[in-house]
Amino acid sequence: MKKSRISRIRWMLIGGSMLILLLMIIPRGQSVRELEISQVLEMAEAGQLDTIEVTGDKLAVTTVDGNQFKSRKEPSVSILELLQSRGVTVGPGTVEVEIKQDGGGFLPAVLSFLPLILIGALVFYMMRRSQGGISQALNIGKSRARAIGENKPSVTFDDVAGADEAKQELVEIVEFLNNPTKFTRLGAKIPRGVLLTGPPGTGKTLISRAVAGEAGVPFFSTSGSEFVEMFVGVGASRVRDLFNKAKENAPALIFIDEIDAVGRHRGAGIGGGNDEREQTLNQILVEMDGFDERTNVIVIAATNRPDILDPALVRPGRFDRHVTLDSPDVRGREAILRVHLGGMPVVDGLDLGTVARETPGFSGADLANLVNEAAILAARADKHEIEFDDFEEAIDRVIAGPARRSRKTSEREREVVAYHEAGHALVAATLPQADPVHKVTIVSRGASGGHTRLLPTEDRGLWTKGQFEAMLAVMMGGQAAEQEVFGDVTTGASNDLQNATNLARRMVTEYGMSEELGPQSFSSGQSETFLGRELGSARRYSDAIAAKIDAEVGKLLTTARATAGRIISENCERLAGVARKLVSDETIQGADLQKMLQLPSEDAPVAA
Ligand code: ADP
Ligand code: MG
Ligand code: ZN
Repeated sequence: MKKSRISRIRWMLIGGSMLILLLMIIPRGQSVRELEISQVLEMAEAGQLDTIEVTGDKLAVTTVDGNQFKSRKEPSVSILELLQSRGVTVGPGTVEVEIKQDGGGFLPAVLSFLPLILIGALVFYMMRRSQGGISQALNIGKSRARAIGENKPSVTFDDVAGADEAKQELVEIVEFLNNPTKFTRLGAKIPRGVLLTGPPGTGKTLISRAVAGEAGVPFFSTSGSEFVEMFVGVGASRVRDLFNKAKENAPALIFIDEIDAVGRHRGAGIGGGNDEREQTLNQILVEMDGFDERTNVIVIAATNRPDILDPALVRPGRFDRHVTLDSPDVRGREAILRVHLGGMPVVDGLDLGTVARETPGFSGADLANLVNEAAILAARADKHEIEFDDFEEAIDRVIAGPARRSRKTSEREREVVAYHEAGHALVAATLPQADPVHKVTIVSRGASGGHTRLLPTEDRGLWTKGQFEAMLAVMMGGQAAEQEVFGDVTTGASNDLQNATNLARRMVTEYGMSEELGPQSFSSGQSETFLGRELGSARRYSDAIAAKIDAEVGKLLTTARATAGRIISENCERLAGVARKLVSDETIQGADLQKMLQLPSEDAPVAA
């Protein structure tokens, strides 16, 4: 709005200047020949002139023959004197001189002033602009934190599902602020900082907005990246300003999102420290130390990288309370789905429990996205209610991308994919330690030709070696089936092999699941700082161990491959049956698969 007005003014100025220029260039009036003053005087001497009109310094000369000329004289001399000096008499009969009023009217005068006016306007406008710049520059040290007071966010704790412990902790924080004496009476110190940690999308920002919505106190919200500017010292002064504002409004809450942007381990990363970031961090530390017993301000910070935070930030007296938001468990996922489905029309008896079971590892943000995808799919099909099928399709889309039904595949390729997926499914259905199959499909999504989805019977925090070995065998099932049926393998297994290799490596190096290497960890246990501390840090084991690790990983993989191969060759007819059905139907649900394979189905999932 403001921008467009400014640019309109600018265009008007430019247009005006062009107009003036044009007016000055284009000659006005009819073109009359111009003569030197000496010529005019000569003609007067020769008696060729009839009249001379004088307007200021301009002369309009009419000859006896009726020709007209223009001329100019010097401003200081009078034309009469000039004529007299040449001995020309002035008067009727000879040359008549008419003196006219100076100034050819109003318009020319205005026109001659216009450029000046325009330049003045331009200068004024530019000055105002640069002054804006100056005042902006003076404001740069001011915190950009938004005080959330009167217009509180509408988010409440009810909107945050499945994070009961975190909620409880934060409710208590609000209580500290509202009723400090209850705690200080007993000599308890009010905590100063709360660090919210957890993987991305688990609702850290959401829950802090809920705190703002529920808190009866002013809430200042900012993000770590807002402290980082081009100019050194800005971050520190913004921190000062933010804390001052909060102290003026105490009791108050400060929320710093993504604090890792400034709170990184000092001196870490390539190129050593970043002065600006370190100054900002130091200022935060100083401000938090500056809180005295009566300062009723609590700082909440959020990060998904607590491991890279500077130790000084998390020591007692600073961010000493840690609230962790974990990836939701199956009950949490169901609750989150329910929150996000609130107000949406869903079919009666929608089995959200199964949807929750099908989505292990999904964060709150993933689930919010899932609900939205399902709603979009239902709307696209002109349904009035969201159905279970929409969720099934949405899960596939979120995991593997949209179905690519338009992709033309040859019959032969469909058959290969069908056998590959049937191989995965058969191995999974046969091994008791593997999760039951939820669905097998050869509908191509993203880069994959098809996929087999297992449905975990439970949310696992712990995995056994046997379960991992079964998983490895299931991953190998695809290629094993190709080998068994076609006597050759395709590139379709590359993703399976990658996953299997990663899993096997972790079994050996992190979980101590290799007898050869024994109960020892070969990983640093820390996720790596991007271009950070870990870069170039030495491996903590010898080359001999490295070779052993590789050998053990290889052994796990070949064993898994052998298991898969054995199951496939023992069940050739079943495999062919599943593959044929896949070619004709594209998708088989878990329960149907169990029936086809006629395997004991005691732990078969209740699939839709
Ligand atoms: P982050 O932890 O990365 O800050 P956000 O708080 O931004 O994650 O979460 C992103 C979105 O995911 C939220 O806006 C919300 O829609 C959804 N979400 C995440 N966790 C939950 C939860 N526990 N309950 C309900 N919705 C959630
Ligand atoms: Mg966030
Ligand atoms: Zn595969």
